[in-house]
Amino acid sequence: MSDKVDLAAIRNIGIMAHIDAGKTTTTERMLFYTGRVHKIGEVDKGTATMDWMSQEQERGITITSAATTCTWKDVVINIIDTPGHVDFTVEVERSLRVLDGAIGIFCGVAGVQPQSETVWRQADRYKVPRIAYVNKMDRIGADYLRVVNMIRQTLGSEAYPINLPIGVEDYFSGVIDLIDLKAYIYEDELGAGYIIRDLTAEEMAEAQKHRSILVEIIAENDDYILEKYLEGQDISAPELNQALRQLTISNKIVPVLCGSSFKNKGVQLLLDAIVRYLPSPQDVPAVTGIDPDRGVQVQRKADTQEALCALAFKVVVDPYVGKLTYFRVYSGQIKLGTSILNSGKRKKERITKILKMHANHREEVSQAYAGDIVAGVGLKDTITGDTLCDESSPILLESISFPDPVVDVAIEAKTKNDQDKIGESLRRLGEEDPTFRTRIDEDTGQTIISGMGELHLEIIIDRLLKEFKVNANVGNPQVSYKETIKKTNRAEAVFEKQSGGRGQYAQVIIQLRPLEEGAGKRFINQSKAEEIPPEFVTAVEAGSLEAMQGGILAGYPVDDIEITLLGGSFHEVDSTEQSFKIATGMAVREALNGAEVVLLEPIMDVEIVCPEEYVGEVISDLNSRRGRVLGFEEHKGSKIIKALVPLAETFGYATSLRSVSQGRASFSMQIKNYAEVPASKSKEIVAKRYGLSL
Ligand code: GDP
Repeated sequence: MSDKVDLAAIRNIGIMAHIDAGKTTTTERMLFYTGRVHKIGEVDKGTATMDWMSQEQERGITITSAATTCTWKDVVINIIDTPGHVDFTVEVERSLRVLDGAIGIFCGVAGVQPQSETVWRQADRYKVPRIAYVNKMDRIGADYLRVVNMIRQTLGSEAYPINLPIGVEDYFSGVIDLIDLKAYIYEDELGAGYIIRDLTAEEMAEAQKHRSILVEIIAENDDYILEKYLEGQDISAPELNQALRQLTISNKIVPVLCGSSFKNKGVQLLLDAIVRYLPSPQDVPAVTGIDPDRGVQVQRKADTQEALCALAFKVVVDPYVGKLTYFRVYSGQIKLGTSILNSGKRKKERITKILKMHANHREEVSQAYAGDIVAGVGLKDTITGDTLCDESSPILLESISFPDPVVDVAIEAKTKNDQDKIGESLRRLGEEDPTFRTRIDEDTGQTIISGMGELHLEIIIDRLLKEFKVNANVGNPQVSYKETIKKTNRAEAVFEKQSGGRGQYAQVIIQLRPLEEGAGKRFINQSKAEEIPPEFVTAVEAGSLEAMQGGILAGYPVDDIEITLLGGSFHEVDSTEQSFKIATGMAVREALNGAEVVLLEPIMDVEIVCPEEYVGEVISDLNSRRGRVLGFEEHKGSKIIKALVPLAETFGYATSLRSVSQGRASFSMQIKNYAEVPASKSKEIVAKRYGLSL
């Protein structure tokens, strides 16, 4: 292969959706129509090609963000799979870093649901150009234009249909393309064949109505189209497509299509839309990073002739080849066997295999170019978020940040041998998934794993027990509480020791001040250099952050707090960093004592879709969980209940909701914020923490 790579013929895209909207089914169909997979794998039968982890198959959800390559009309499409379950939004976040465009899939009945909203807003933040696909048009209650309106109103995006359904529910038979004004009718079961026919007069009238709205909005944003529009000239399909592509890429318009992936209708047009409207690597801004040697900002254009710059976004331990590192090449090229630099760790790496991952086979290639998304074997020290580059032109991209875990679970090895295995297995699982943390509880000796939600931890533990064959007892999930203060308070501490030889001396005066929710920790130095020299200020900062790791109420980390070093004193001979650290710890504890410490707990945004007759039961169940109902929405005979519920009260909610609604209600949730635990509950938690009974 020559170095001439047609970057314009590459699309790196993600698919984002609320769980159950049909992401897996749609991806499956795309792979089927692009000819890579020859049998359609049904999610319901647990054989979907993308869901290759057994946990996913059992649960029917997609949790890993594997990249799959396929080709449609000579354009290479790399699909970066993003999970729909909210426990894994960080997976969405990291895939957003490496893709250029995305498809938002919405259910034709449910429309915009909370998780699709979260992901959509994440994509807004990363300015990812999008098209929307309204799936499940065959379902009872599907309403295309309602969903388009929801995308506009709830998500605030300029969403405009570029096709319309022909028939709905059982009669959904095809779509009207508003650009070329033709009807696409699907005839056979697999939908591989469709006929294109002219529109009937009635269809034409409806289509023209929507087309003129689309043309008008395009004209508002595109001078060439505006001119033709004002002159009353015909605007051709290629002209409209060209303008629509520019407006999609610049995030001004979200073209919307409809279909039914399950019934094999509309997916080819979605593939066409990916190629037509979503950006190639050349259409997105150059990546920006820091030259770690010079500390200045540098850029890399999507060009194979530039110096190499790539970002590792996913590490998986593969049973056949060992550690696989997925990365996106932004510029330059990577050749097998050459040495590359992990610029953050300043370590040289060598890739022994480069693989293009297709849905059901992997292809070994000798080079990867700007624009590619591939997996590499042989990288030893590289983890998610690391930058790979040429040694001679180093660049460091911003790493991928992960939110703090909110749920803990304790595991206890059954034998000494298992104890060793736990440590090693968790280390390996941690290489794949940097969103969970592990620590040893000093009091109990148990291993504590912290993750993003109950399901997240369930999956890790499942793998630990099944895949790594660890014998262990597993505790119930526990909330990761935090502590914070409500009052500003200051304290002074002196640490002094005179026991022959060199003594120890440090005096610090600090102030603690509450910060708003989510602000984190902040350290400010207001002491004078003659009171405390700089090296000891560093020790005070380290000491105070250390002290924040375990609060005075129940030993939970202290957050949303500002620590100010006001002053103090030192001794020429006796003062050490250690003595300042100890004095700081003493002062912090003292100051916390008078600062009204409270417990904070994660609060979840919960949305329940429930038939009318069970609403009463569901609400009384929510009330018993300290839930606060925010409101209701009506939707085709069902109620959508929106509520806030403390995370602690959501454990096992799936089972409980099933029983109060005879399996007819469904729910989704995501973390909203941390809030103060009511006093009585707080007492209970503290007592339990210290093994006391109330
Ligand atoms: P994901 O959670 O977003 O990956 O959704 P899946 O692809 O797993 O689909 C969830 C459920 O919806 C499965 O039972 C699918 O068979 C079903 N489904 C997906 N697409 C359609 C569709 O177009 N019409 C109907 N009626 N069901 C669909």
